[in-house]
Amino acid sequence: MKKKLIVGNWKMNGSLAANAALVGALKDGLAQAAAEAGCGVAVAVPAAYLAQVQALAEGSRIALAAQDVSEHAVGAFTGETSAEMLRDFGVRYALVGHSERRQYHGETDAVVAAKAQRALAVGITPIVCVGETLQEREAGETQNVVKRQLAAVVQAVGHCVTELVVAYEPVWAIGTGRTASPEQAQEVHAVLRAQLAAATTQADGIALLYGGSMNAANAAQLLAQPDIDGGLVGGASLKAADFLQIIAAAD
Ligand code: PGA
Repeated sequence: MKKKLIVGNWKMNGSLAANAALVGALKDGLAQAAAEAGCGVAVAVPAAYLAQVQALAEGSRIALAAQDVSEHAVGAFTGETSAEMLRDFGVRYALVGHSERRQYHGETDAVVAAKAQRALAVGITPIVCVGETLQEREAGETQNVVKRQLAAVVQAVGHCVTELVVAYEPVWAIGTGRTASPEQAQEVHAVLRAQLAAATTQADGIALLYGGSMNAANAAQLLAQPDIDGGLVGGASLKAADFLQIIAAAD
């Protein structure tokens, strides 16, 4: 069976003290789990804490992820963090196009595609987030929206499409406690898989994560779907016990 991938998205939460406690508890929990057959585990931390979490997670199963990356390589872009800078801190994955970035920072499909390219250029795996709003779902636009969002990235990255991770995150399910049903999620994942299969013969090897109110109680059912290869977990990744339970469901 394909290894699953569970990524925690801390968003703009944490402090030096809280991060140390959380990563410490995760490491203790993971040390007790059967590590060999285990799923991939990563945490996407605020940029300010990359160095801290890099040091805390060293030697553990926990890989480091960034929540965003600049579409520019270097230069006069105040406030931005480049892919090279992320790589300096051992970052393995970078979220690109999270709906909160699209919504509050005006990131377009083209910007998201450029970010994915920058990450790939330095060997960081982009986790490309796609998903429809409630309004779009109710208008029957779900498939068109996610296909449009993914197509921009697939076109831009060319043969590197096999290096992507894709996260389907329906906007109406993020932070709302309203999870997509396993069937709703699987339906969209199958569409994304088919779209990837049109671009590469290796689409089955591309990890498709589900995100949006995934928690300890619903993770197993979601992860049992044939095209759900892991999770992108926000709120529930801030509590070690909950996040460990989700990892256990994927192990
Ligand atoms: P949530 O967030 O699990 O809190 O819904 C998921 C995400 O935004 O990545």
